Amino acid sequence: RRAMSDEVEKARAAKPAPGPTIFDKIIDKSIPADIIYEDDQCLAFRDVSPQAPTHFLVIPKKRLSSLSDAEEADQQLLGHMMLVAKKTAAQEKLDNGYRLVPVRLTDARSLCVPVINNGPDGAQSVFHLHLHVMGGRQMGWPPG
Ligand code: 5GP
Repeated sequence: RRAMSDEVEKARAAKPAPGPTIFDKIIDKSIPADIIYEDDQCLAFRDVSPQAPTHFLVIPKKRLSSLSDAEEADQQLLGHMMLVAKKTAAQEKLDNGYRLVPVRLTDARSLCVPVINNGPDGAQSVFHLHLHVMGGRQMGWPPG
């Protein structure tokens, strides 16, 4: 397990920049990733630093830096990301359940919804909206 403080430190230092992120490069295939699902709106690929036996990310192809930037018009896309997470989890044979949240959760109000790291306090490190999906081991509760 990687040190939580390193990851939080990295996330706090991360700044949204105007240009493409590493995830844009994964979308346009200019850098490699282990892509396990793709359609016209979304991409799912394995996290380079997995925190569970199965750990993949679901991202929109549209440039959306964070959940804070989502608008009413993105409602269909946000819902689609959940369905892609569900379908890809089934494809990955996570039949014993899985978690659609990151391991770093500090806000108790978020417990009832899928959690997306958002901004510095949310420990977001890559500014392209993404869902974490983890499975293949017993999850603890509550996530920290
Ligand atoms: P965040 O901390 O922003 O919620 O999560 C970003 C995630 O993206 C991290 O779990 C990190 O391991 C993953 N990640 C960062 N860069 C890359 C990359 O180049 N390739 C892949 N596959 N995952 C990445």
